[in-house]
Amino acid sequence: MSAPQQNATAQNWFTEQHARSGSSFGLRIKERLHAEQTPYQSIEIYDTTDWGKLMVIDGCTMVSTRDNFLYHEMMSHPALFTHARAKRVVIIGGGDCGTLREVLRHEEVEHAVQVEIDERVTRLAEQYFPELCESNADPRAELLFIDGIKYMAEQEPESIDVVIVDSTDPVGPAEGLFNADFYASCHRALRPSGILVQQSESPLVHLDLIKSMRTAMRVADFQAVKTLLFPQPLYPTGWWSCTMARKGADLSGFRERGAATKQFATRYYNVDMHKAALALPEFMREAFGE
Ligand code: SAM
Repeated sequence: MSAPQQNATAQNWFTEQHARSGSSFGLRIKERLHAEQTPYQSIEIYDTTDWGKLMVIDGCTMVSTRDNFLYHEMMSHPALFTHARAKRVVIIGGGDCGTLREVLRHEEVEHAVQVEIDERVTRLAEQYFPELCESNADPRAELLFIDGIKYMAEQEPESIDVVIVDSTDPVGPAEGLFNADFYASCHRALRPSGILVQQSESPLVHLDLIKSMRTAMRVADFQAVKTLLFPQPLYPTGWWSCTMARKGADLSGFRERGAATKQFATRYYNVDMHKAALALPEFMREAFGE
């Protein structure tokens, strides 16, 4: 076994220390390309030696060139292949535009609105992650830079097919996206059989949060709730989740044939990974009473 490589000096590593889990994640960097404080958060962009570009918000890793496909595909395709035919999709957050790009791969989608509170996230994504922004000029896309909580509260009842909440952690501007009031506004805005899907953090260290989200979704009258699991190395523990909730219908199946014959390429999502994402480990089945 080769001698352990001398740890490079700290200055050429970006490390996120995750206090809650007593763990950290680091990427070796070439240089910091940008840093700014917006009215909402601090944003940094790094160039890494092996993971492409890295965006960090308030010290938390957000997106890297190398592994964002895992997250953006799993935040979009399970919900869109579960819905019979989603025409109007709203993304809350998602300022790096990767989720928007995946949503617009579905030709049935007629209107995709991205509601990102901080315009600087998108402008920096356009500069440093242009591949994630390649669909921003799609005529079906609409980019709004306002608070998603306020936006959802003002939507016409039964006007949306799928809501995707691709937000930061439940602190600061995102805190109000993880409670029954917000879910009630989503429920009201969704059409019958509409689907809400939200990034729901790490099953290993945020199980209490996931349980509280699921409870709050049911309080908001969502009939069915499912948590899906997938890898996401960039985020704390590297094991991530999203939670789907459906209005007035169940989440027992999805359009397997549509997913199997999809007309666009993915790097992670396929029928088997969709099914696998729905399989829960024992500790989660017990926690959810399933
Ligand atoms: N994939 C990342 C994750 O799981 O942490 C999220 C990526 S995206 C950059 C998260 C976005 O949510 C940020 O750009 C942030 O500005 C946005 N955001 C937070 N609270 C928001 C709110 N209330 N309304 C709209 N966007 C919000």
